[in-house]
Parts: sequence; structure tokens; C-alpha cells
Amino acid sequence: MAGLTETSSKPIPIPDDASRPFFDAARQGVLLLRRCQACGTFLSPTGGIGTPLRPRCLTCFSAELAWAPASGQATLYSFALMHQVYDPAFADEVPYNIAVVELDEGVRMTTNVVGCANEELWIGMPLEVTFEQVSDEVAIPKFRRAP
Ligand SMILES: [Zn+2]
Repeated sequence: MAGLTETSSKPIPIPDDASRPFFDAARQGVLLLRRCQACGTFLSPTGGIGTPLRPRCLTCFSAELAWAPASGQATLYSFALMHQVYDPAFADEVPYNIAVVELDEGVRMTTNVVGCANEELWIGMPLEVTFEQVSDEVAIPKFRRAP
């Protein structure tokens, strides 16, 4: 359980009523996006840091949005390597990657690529979602090299 102790000092998202479906699915290993029921456009599962979920579709402005499962398949769109220790909870992990992945559904997410040395990352590499259980309630989507 040493990993759990280390993880517990990192900031952990707190599900609220709006995000609870996302976190409930994540615990089951399913990545949810929001999808427009009018035109089928997929949207990010988050509104961005400190912002609420988008109330309307970016394509057609419909307010008919619902949670929908993503394939979990993605490609690496961009990444940076973090060498600076901004939070002591991450001190043992520098340098770690901060990655932007593009899901097959067209949505980009900021995440980490795990199970792969930073030197082996390349733009366009195929990835698949995996989940890191950080508390009883919360699992966070990360990405690993697709087989
Ligand atoms: Zn739409």
C-alpha cells in the first residue's frame, strides 16, 4: 500500500453532481465523454480547470448533451517533460511527462503517458486509456502505449 500513501498527498479531484457519472464510469475502467444528442459531436469530459462543464455543443449549440463512452483509443498529440518540482508530492517522479492526447472521437485531453520511458514518446504514437486508482472514489484516466 506504499503507492496509495504516496498518491494520497497529491491533489485528487473531488467528484460533484455534474462530474459523478464520469468518476463512476472511471472506477469501472470506462472513459466517458459528453456527446451532443443533436449532431453527435463529442466534447471534453471537463470544462477546463476551474470552469463548469460546457452547457452547449460547440458545433450546433444544442443543449442536449449526454455522457457517452469513448473507445479509449488515442494518439499522442503533444507532450512536455516536467523537471521542476512544483509540488513535493511529485518530487520522486520528475522528470515526468505532461501529455495532450487526441482521442479517436476528436477530443483532446491533458494527461500522462504511463508505462513508457519519456525517451520513447513520439508524436502520433498510438495510445489507449488506463486508469490510476488514486482513492476509493476516484480513478484518473492516463494513457499507455497501445498494443
Ligand atoms: Zn451538436
